[in-house]
Amino acid sequence: MKTYLLEEMTWPEIKEALERGVDTVIIYAASIEQHGPALPEMTDTTLGYAEAVDLAKRLGNALAAPVIRPGLSKHHLGFPGSITLRPEVFKGVVEDYIASYVHHGFKKVILCASHGGNFQTIDAIAEEQAQKYPDVCIVAGCSLDELDASLAEMEVLEGLPVGTCGGHACDWETSIMMALDENYVRRDKLQAGYVGALTGELLQRFFEKGVNSVSEIGVMGDPTGAEAERGQRYFAYLQDMQEAAVRKHIREWEEQRKGVNRKEQ
Ligand SMILES: [Zn+2]
Repeated sequence: MKTYLLEEMTWPEIKEALERGVDTVIIYAASIEQHGPALPEMTDTTLGYAEAVDLAKRLGNALAAPVIRPGLSKHHLGFPGSITLRPEVFKGVVEDYIASYVHHGFKKVILCASHGGNFQTIDAIAEEQAQKYPDVCIVAGCSLDELDASLAEMEVLEGLPVGTCGGHACDWETSIMMALDENYVRRDKLQAGYVGALTGELLQRFFEKGVNSVSEIGVMGDPTGAEAERGQRYFAYLQDMQEAAVRKHIREWEEQRKGVNRKEQ
């Protein structure tokens, strides 16, 4: 059996992988939260698994940790079912994941978010933990700004109106979920939410007053034209961007490490 998911492996298989030189663990932080009337609450978790496994294949010598869920979803509590962790609890879980994998001998830890509300905290944790374990390469994946920029680029490439990929249960997320499994999507419930520019003021309201203050159905964007084939294109495009970001962060860590070693000599 060949799997990239640590939770599907036995301990002797993991031991053997480490001895073979597998040195990287990829940790995705997702969410359990409302995704409008057509997508399940597990959407970000499902995306997290798909992205983590794909990234592990791309990087080589890497395995994917169990996706962390729930995450930071306070702004989604206006809708039934969403769970949110207190920031200190979330932080503690991520830190304990890192401590466990470092204990087992992983030399590189990649922290990624498959939920918008986790990005900032993940970036901060990566920085802090890199200080705590100077011999381990601990880096974050792409930033939320890089993700938003990629979504805007994809809209242009696909010839879609501005705001179609508003970032939540939109054309992007719905198309990728269709690509992963058509059964995830309630096609007859697809409905446009807020469609338009994501201004700073709007995003502030989104996070502080809750998603329902911007969109009554909890959707940012327009998923009504979503399709599985476009989902595959979104996925490849975004994973290219994620891989490039991760490789860049690893290179930067290695450069910095070389500088430190030179100083110590
Ligand atoms: Zn989502």
